[in-house]
Amino acid sequence: MRANQKLYDSNNKQVALFPLSGFHISQRDDETYSHNPNVYYATDYLGWDSSGRVYRAPCYAPVDIKLIWKNATECCAVWESLEKVHLANGMIDYLTILVYHDNDIQDGTYYSVGTIKRMGEIFNRTGTGGQVTGDHVHLETGYGRYATSSSSAYGTAEYKFHITDWTKPKRLHNYNALFINDTSPYQSPGNYNWISFSGGSPSPGGNRKHRFKWVLYANKLRDK
Ligand SMILES: [Zn+2]
Repeated sequence: MRANQKLYDSNNKQVALFPLSGFHISQRDDETYSHNPNVYYATDYLGWDSSGRVYRAPCYAPVDIKLIWKNATECCAVWESLEKVHLANGMIDYLTILVYHDNDIQDGTYYSVGTIKRMGEIFNRTGTGGQVTGDHVHLETGYGRYATSSSSAYGTAEYKFHITDWTKPKRLHNYNALFINDTSPYQSPGNYNWISFSGGSPSPGGNRKHRFKWVLYANKLRDK
């Protein structure tokens, strides 16, 4: 996606877009170098544009999101959508997005818990905070609302640091959660089945004009 981009489906749900404007993948979610695909789906992305590598690359809010939790030691933050949104696998549900390595999280200069970022605003950057070998963002996505203290997973290590099958939210491959519209250039392995959302509107009620006409017509009929 691009800075300040917004996209709504015909039911006025925000369409979840991929947060970087370009990337190269440095570790897939089925690799085991520093990830555990049995437990969570994490992908590492390097920032990229037409002239190559971008350091401290901006990540744009894929939908309207709120910062739920952060941890300076692990350099990790969790954001949750304000509303149910349109996910790339067709689900309409809450989107949770977990990021690692923005240096600001470690430095304590990151956003405060409760901060809201609107779709298309910068909410995070690639970085070298935490356990890294170079500047990147580690990204995990899931559907459903963030677990509350009533969840059985509450208090487990996976509960906050990863999105799994037994936590809430539940894990989704990034390409099953986020549409790839207007992200270019990107380099990604063949088993990453990115898709673009077709149609949609940059503002809610993109088809309001049409509906309004119908309402006028209906009122006319009623008046007769
Ligand atoms: Zn990673």
